[in-house]
Amino acid sequence: MCKISSFRDGLNDTCLKCGNERETLIHVMKDCPMAQAVLKFGGLNNKFLARSYLRCIDWIEDIARELDNKAVSNLITILWNVWNSRNNRIFKGVEEDAKVTWERAAALSKDFRIFNMLENLMVSKKAEVKT
Ligand SMILES: [Zn+2]
Repeated sequence: MCKISSFRDGLNDTCLKCGNERETLIHVMKDCPMAQAVLKFGGLNNKFLARSYLRCIDWIEDIARELDNKAVSNLITILWNVWNSRNNRIFKGVEEDAKVTWERAAALSKDFRIFNMLENLMVSKKAEVKT
């Protein structure tokens, strides 16, 4: 299991965002209340948040199986911003609102597709095969 704190010599391994859990990669990207706030702000389908994963890559792969490439690439952009927000908190002491993190991610892509469109407009890969 990837333990991020092993990169931070001499610090404890508690998540500095929430202070509740060990700071693993999957915690920072998905399970931390701060990450959940950003992902929910974007409307990521709750089923992708409810399931528990040990490894971040397994979570992303599960999502990639169901969403189209554009939505997955937007998710990666969001995760990258969640990571930056975490680093800003740790290294610069900057506290950032979930909305701000989401909007910065959205600003990086002109045609940013909002996750909650998934349930209405976007067709899952499985459904595309059927029709
Ligand atoms: Zn946390």
